[in-house]
Amino acid sequence: MEKRQELYAGKAKSVYRTDDPDKMVLMFRDDTSAFDGKRIEQLDRKGMVNNKFNAFIMTKLQEAGIPTHFEALLSDTESLVKCLDMMPVECVVRNVAAGSLCRRLGVEEGVTLNPPTFELFLKNDALGDPMINESHVEAFGWAKASDLAKAKALTYQVNDVLKALFAAGDMILVDYKLEFGLYKGEVILGDEFSPDGCRLWDAETKEKLDKDRFRQGLGGVIEAYEDVGRRIGIDFNA
Ligand code: UDP
Repeated sequence: MEKRQELYAGKAKSVYRTDDPDKMVLMFRDDTSAFDGKRIEQLDRKGMVNNKFNAFIMTKLQEAGIPTHFEALLSDTESLVKCLDMMPVECVVRNVAAGSLCRRLGVEEGVTLNPPTFELFLKNDALGDPMINESHVEAFGWAKASDLAKAKALTYQVNDVLKALFAAGDMILVDYKLEFGLYKGEVILGDEFSPDGCRLWDAETKEKLDKDRFRQGLGGVIEAYEDVGRRIGIDFNA
């Protein structure tokens, strides 16, 4: 698969066209950003770790019957994926209160959410990714109601698969963000799943093992990502 010109550079990944119009290459860079791109740093090995992490998780989700855009690992930092027509929304499920939910509602971090909550955010850095609801998505034409309903159902299905996967590695999946798109009319999971877009705590100590280490200046960011990976069976040297 020949990689052609760069289509788009996001905050942590670059996207390249290929000679197949239905496929593109995602390149995971070492860049780490927080606060809607206001803080950016390079972290050694991050591109490799997140690329392999994402490949492992996407494969697990596919095995569980959840359609994803992931096709194949191409190199340490590159993966081949299907080209999707992305919905400009972020789907967030929370099992435990943290982050913006605590800031918005004044709840204490660590409170169990039963049932897990589902939230939508508009992908718009200039507006600070505002929270939206399902009627906004339909009214502004960001997605069809039926496609959003499918994305929501898949987001919850991912919770069942990944809560169990991380629990087996003695971790709590606190929350996570997913992005979906359409491929030949079908709603498919796109973007990535890595510790950049979810919260994971050690089940016993509640130590943070995700991007909050970067957001909160706790250090040991990539070491924590590698620890999470090893606990769920990823071999980063493979
Ligand atoms: N998240 C993300 N990208 C974003 C916003 C949030 O990946 O642009 C993830 C974040 O890592 C967390 C979940 O979505 O796992 C919920 O994030 P939250 O709304 O608490 O926002 P934050 O506190 O990260 O600003």
